[in-house]
Amino acid sequence: MRVVLLGPPGAGKGTQALKIAKEFDIPHISTGDIFRQNLRDNTELGKLAKEYMDKGLLVPDEVTNRIVEDRLEKEDCKKGFLLDGYPRNIPQAEELDKFLEERGHSLTAVINIQVEREALIDRITGRRVCPVCGATYHIKTSPPKVDNVCDKCGSELIQRSDDKLESVVKRLEVYEKETKPLIDYYTKKGILVNIDGNKSIDEVFEDIKKALLGDRRNDIH
Ligand SMILES: [Zn+2]
Repeated sequence: MRVVLLGPPGAGKGTQALKIAKEFDIPHISTGDIFRQNLRDNTELGKLAKEYMDKGLLVPDEVTNRIVEDRLEKEDCKKGFLLDGYPRNIPQAEELDKFLEERGHSLTAVINIQVEREALIDRITGRRVCPVCGATYHIKTSPPKVDNVCDKCGSELIQRSDDKLESVVKRLEVYEKETKPLIDYYTKKGILVNIDGNKSIDEVFEDIKKALLGDRRNDIH
């Protein structure tokens, strides 16, 4: 099973990715993770990427594609994979199709987790973290016993700057702008599956499972 996972910040993509990978026994390939790994291991690709990052430039698609493809060539991807954070644009999507095609494969599905904008803003801006022990809270869904105080260590909780309203609005705008063309691209190919991400974690996962096992039962292997 070869799956691409799309979803805005706050849609619970990371949580679902772990569940999908476990359920279908496929590696969860997060672009962020493989970039960090290449940098840490100081690989040729890592060095190449670092040259751009050090200059404050975006890593070009060519390098990103090679980093992802290098990972997809690994043994554990023989039975499939779950891609998270890639592709990010049409040239990357086309390259992924070409890469798979050359190996006689294609994507099984592209899962698009959808959550209303207001709900995303609520989910993200309500997050609080403990700067000392790392515990995480949400002012509405999992508040600490005492307002703004960590249950575990008694430290004062903070809101990460990324989680502040202004930053969240910007992140969502960037995501929408970046993802819209991909949604169109995969819709045209007939492999996009929209999933209602407003439900509980377990319900969302059940819907994803059904979508992956459902009509596409024949192309799984
Ligand atoms: Zn704490």
